[in-house]
Amino acid sequence: MLKGRFTTRRTCRLCNSSMLHLFLNMGLMPLAGDFLKKKDIGKEKLYPLRIFFCENCFLVQLLDIVKDSNIFKDYRYFSSVSLSRHFGDYAQEISTKFLKKGSFVVEIGSNDGVLLGPFKKRGYRVLGVDPAKNATKEANKKGLKTITDYFGIKSSKRILEEYGQADAIFANNVLAHIDNMEDVAKGIEILLKDDGIFVFEVHYLGNLIKDLQYDFFYPGEHLTYYSLYPLMLFWKKYGIKIFDIKKTKIHSGSIRVYASKKSRKKSNIEKFLNEEKKLGLYKKNTFDKFATQVFKNKSLLEKNIKDLAKKGKIVGYGAAGRANTLLNYSNITDRAITYIVDESSQRQGRFTPGNHIEIFPVSKFKNDNPKFCMILAWSYADEIMKKEKEFKENGGKFVVPLPKFVVK
Ligand SMILES: [Zn+2]
Repeated sequence: MLKGRFTTRRTCRLCNSSMLHLFLNMGLMPLAGDFLKKKDIGKEKLYPLRIFFCENCFLVQLLDIVKDSNIFKDYRYFSSVSLSRHFGDYAQEISTKFLKKGSFVVEIGSNDGVLLGPFKKRGYRVLGVDPAKNATKEANKKGLKTITDYFGIKSSKRILEEYGQADAIFANNVLAHIDNMEDVAKGIEILLKDDGIFVFEVHYLGNLIKDLQYDFFYPGEHLTYYSLYPLMLFWKKYGIKIFDIKKTKIHSGSIRVYASKKSRKKSNIEKFLNEEKKLGLYKKNTFDKFATQVFKNKSLLEKNIKDLAKKGKIVGYGAAGRANTLLNYSNITDRAITYIVDESSQRQGRFTPGNHIEIFPVSKFKNDNPKFCMILAWSYADEIMKKEKEFKENGGKFVVPLPKFVVK
């Protein structure tokens, strides 16, 4: 395995402070979505996975930026399949609260148009911006006008010229992936109407800390782990004020944040900040403690899986990118987990990066009847156990690795 190319930031992504505290070093890791063809085994590149806490604005972030090829290129899943209901409700809420006839809606990182679709159906003018060619092609096919580009000052000026200012700008599950946030913020400053709204969803740091979701850390792709306070400080610099926030269940716990240039009546903000303070999200000590817990959990997981493997065959269920952090960090290889099953035909026949476990269709595990099934997509454990209840009825046992190791 080769060491990949990366650069390291010296300052905080949001506030530019250099008071950065390294609290968790997970060693060298492959890219989470880099599922390998057989001929590429051993050729995957490795990158440092180190997580920092900014002592000035309290942002949790990776500073090592992957420089090799476009990491979104190949594997990024189309969001429509799993998330269409979530985004349908989202569009409904925004339309009722904030939009009027003829409103112009722009989405950053619009993927295949899972949110723009329901807006268009309601009669609004929509425009997507996304750097992933395969996704924008899909969106345009559906009649959802989408530009293949990164969102920033340049693209927003282009949009402004052609379409005018936006009544609403959205960014869902995308702000955590962007290194140059200043460019995005300035782009929004340019494109958003004074009485327009900017709404975004990001995975929430509070859930990560509470539920020990350390498999949300992976190199290159997910650079930032957001809480409310650093977001408020950052957007304020660009005249964009956060006025509301709510939790959503998507991706194991996210937040939907509402902001605008014009001051609006605030709700939930004080309550949320107090909650974060209570959770210790503004203290570096909390993250040091978290890291200790992570290390303990990882060591225990490694030992438990080795012990289980002596008792019978273990297969993994769900080869999500996150599983690769869990498997690599806990040194779980194909000696412990014989193979993994996954519903995605794009992953079947491939091997996990780093530890090279082969991926098969779900039917293989059904015919095979192994003794243990380790649920790698552990945040969906209840759903999976319900769906695969026959496995248990036939004498198999499920293994849930996190937040607490359970065999049931
Ligand atoms: Zn900072």
